[in-house]
Amino acid sequence: MSKQKLSKRIGVIQPSLTIGISAKAKELRSKGVSVTNFAAGEPDFDTPDNIKYAAIKSIVNGNTKYTPAGGMNELRDAVVEKERGRNGLEYKRENICISVGAKHALFNIASVMLDEGDEIIIPSPYWVTYEAIAMYVGAKPVIVETKEENGFIPTIDDLERVITDKTKMILINNPSNPTGATYSEEQLKDIAKLAEKHDIWIISDEIYEDIVFDGYKPISIASLSDYAKEKTLVVNGVSKTYSMTGWRIGYTCGDKDVIAAMIKLQSQSTTNPTSIAQDAAIEALLGPKDSVEKMRSAFEERRDYIVAELNKIDGITCHNPKGAFYVFPNVSSFYGNKFNGNDINGSMDFATLLLESEHVALVPGIAFGADEFVRISFATGLEEIKEGVRRIKNFVSKIS
Ligand code: PMP
Ligand code: GLU
Repeated sequence: MSKQKLSKRIGVIQPSLTIGISAKAKELRSKGVSVTNFAAGEPDFDTPDNIKYAAIKSIVNGNTKYTPAGGMNELRDAVVEKERGRNGLEYKRENICISVGAKHALFNIASVMLDEGDEIIIPSPYWVTYEAIAMYVGAKPVIVETKEENGFIPTIDDLERVITDKTKMILINNPSNPTGATYSEEQLKDIAKLAEKHDIWIISDEIYEDIVFDGYKPISIASLSDYAKEKTLVVNGVSKTYSMTGWRIGYTCGDKDVIAAMIKLQSQSTTNPTSIAQDAAIEALLGPKDSVEKMRSAFEERRDYIVAELNKIDGITCHNPKGAFYVFPNVSSFYGNKFNGNDINGSMDFATLLLESEHVALVPGIAFGADEFVRISFATGLEEIKEGVRRIKNFVSKIS
């Protein structure tokens, strides 16, 4: 009998559906199909010019060699400055690790902190990658369902109920992908207290902190108590705020031993994030912020439009997200019905038939652990959003 080709470990995870559907939409478009792409989890804006010029300058100045594995000192210091100004968090350089995107930061945290069988609490709906990373390192993702009527925020009772002696950490994502849910200061304080009571670490994914609406002011959970400061790993990056998804710069702030372990892992795996992208990230974090506000307000205008229009469609209900660039409408009233003779038994059927018939790409809620919903990214122009809503209306009108 020949030896198994692939490791058992890689067999436990699926390819990212958010990446997969978005790639499919881009491919269809490149073939001339007029696709409305509501699947992409990336801002449609170009990276601001000041950031691009910083990268060009970086190349011209010859910053084209290896950097320290945990990132250039100047960038780590820029993160210290940014977190102090933005969240009132006091870190030193030794508390910061620069990674190849926030996804890589999360992967490295899981790799250096979770042992086989350790449990990590993840409120659902959750971003696809959290569960996959936990499983890949052999940990057990413990999913806590949230309710739409609670604004997709987990209750403390629901969180406490699943805590065991194996619980190592809880992951929160504020604002949330895919729901756009945002936590109040009270809710974050309660989670910090719960973590302290049970001596649990907190991962706080704050990558959407600057994409917020209706005056919501995100607060980092790490700033809410001494325990939270000590035991929270804040994950963030430049992908969303500065429209820099392709540059691949993310970072972690927190406990210096965890950070040192992450840097050790990077020194034996990816080495450093791209030197040029690091220079660009310094400009992003410390440079002018007018482009950030322009993008934010464009997202808010689109959010207003899409929430209002989706709620006008019979059978669809859509909550009003206060952050990120996704809406997460409930489409389950169509389940059990048919479109063109095809059964719609869940979000995957809904998404597949919508893509095939109307060429609208969106991500089925099942990818986020919530099959009653679909995720629509409004990180696309208002005209495309209008066209997409028209197509969705057309699609659901033919469901019987
Ligand atoms: N966290 C969340 C919630 C996200 O939606 C994303 C988007 N990909 C990331 C982390 C990772 O972003 P990146 O790796 O591009 O920094
Ligand atoms: N986070 C984005 C999304 O959810 C980008 C794709 C990904 O990294 O998964 O669509």
